[in-house]
Amino acid sequence: MPQPVLIAGGGPVGLIVALVLGRAGIDVELFDKGDIVHSQPRAATIHPATLDILDDLGIYALIEPQGVICPIVNYYDGKLLLASFDHALIKDATRHPWVLQCEQDKLSRTVFQMTKSLPNVVCHTASKVVDCAQSAGGVEITVDTGDGRQQRHRGAYLVGADGAGSTVRRVADIAFEGFTYPERFMIAGTTYDFAQDGYAYRNYIADPDEWYNLFKISWNGPPGVFRLVTPVFPHEPYEGPEALEMAQRKLQRFAPRRETYEIVVYDSYVVSQRVAATFRNGRILLAGDSAHLNSPIGAMGMNSGIHDAVSLADSMIRTLTGQEDDGALDRYVRQRRHVATHHVQTATIANKQAMEQKDPAARQRYRNDMRHRAGDNNLARQFLMRTSLIESLRDAARIA
Ligand SMILES: Cc1cc2nc3c(=O)[nH]c(=O)nc-3n(C[C@H](O)[C@H](O)[C@H](O)COP(=O)(O)OP(=O)(O)OC[C@H]3O[C@@H](n4cnc5c(N)ncnc54)[C@H](O)[C@@H]3O)c2cc1C
Repeated sequence: MPQPVLIAGGGPVGLIVALVLGRAGIDVELFDKGDIVHSQPRAATIHPATLDILDDLGIYALIEPQGVICPIVNYYDGKLLLASFDHALIKDATRHPWVLQCEQDKLSRTVFQMTKSLPNVVCHTASKVVDCAQSAGGVEITVDTGDGRQQRHRGAYLVGADGAGSTVRRVADIAFEGFTYPERFMIAGTTYDFAQDGYAYRNYIADPDEWYNLFKISWNGPPGVFRLVTPVFPHEPYEGPEALEMAQRKLQRFAPRRETYEIVVYDSYVVSQRVAATFRNGRILLAGDSAHLNSPIGAMGMNSGIHDAVSLADSMIRTLTGQEDDGALDRYVRQRRHVATHHVQTATIANKQAMEQKDPAARQRYRNDMRHRAGDNNLARQFLMRTSLIESLRDAARIA
């Protein structure tokens, strides 16, 4: 009897690997240390390249009603609107020329329902992968179920989709190269409707003292809330009641008003730019945040993780069904690590630098560049092809 593929982590990436493998008739056992369906204010922006993939998997129709469709993205310098881009410009390259603002827990919940209904996929919750080992014939993991017992499971391959602090990456002895920013990023969701002040549903706002990203999400359903993302510097509180007061101050700094902002969502995060030295050690493969981390400015972490998920699942299917030898897995690594380093890291680091730029000459260049891009349909299209990650998928497909 063929051995299953083991997956550590039931975030969006692990779940999509499980769904694609399961549908191809491959046995899968997925382990998550939590309950999979918990909500946490993290990813919300799903780009066109990913929407096409989710559509192919039958997921898009289920998440569209849970999200907000956003064709427009605006770029500001302080209060000054520099550029407005309409994704209609890339309608020849995608079936979804818009961004869907849909929180990642809604996506995970949807994919979890689809995945666990497959007869050949077993999803274990409250099951933490604490160790793994491999031999020529397969992998073995040790799972802590929190009741004082440890279980062992054997499989053909192990996918480490266990997020930023990946146990699988650590045990497989794969270095995680890069750096961590000194400041945290804060998310504050407010019921105040910034659309009445002229903001689009997605806005990037450069500011030399405190940059902002402002997005609409559907949250608990219409009318939704606006989420402000902004830095929390090392001297500022990031948790407890003081952090909520600080979030109020930051919202007031962004858009002063007499009334207090009603804050319904708050969290803060450590932010890193890191890429694993390799995404493969024998029968152990990494995907998503366990393989690469980046700042959320540009919304590329979950999106590129989902692209990893389908690419890895496809390579595994080809290997496990004998269509190709396991060189298919090395191709996965070449393609997706290239995207992580040359597209996602480059873009997200540059996005943050542009948002927080203090040098007046560099700020002026940014203003000129953005206006120039937005004023020329060809340049605007090229810009959206990159930000929507379509270009990254095309680039990866060229790598043999
Ligand atoms: C503030 C913020 C905003 C963001 N916005 C966006 C955005 O708009 N668009 C975007 O594309 N990305 C965004 N991201 C990034 C996005 O959240 C991540 O890239 C995405 O969650 C990665 O998915 P994943 O499945 O790889 O990892 P995770 O979502 O972290 O899932 C990992 C899973 O593994 C489980 N796990 C961990 N350790 C173990 C273990 N040892 N054993 C078993 N299970 C384990 C966890 O319980 C978890 O369920 C944002 C991130 C932040 C912090």
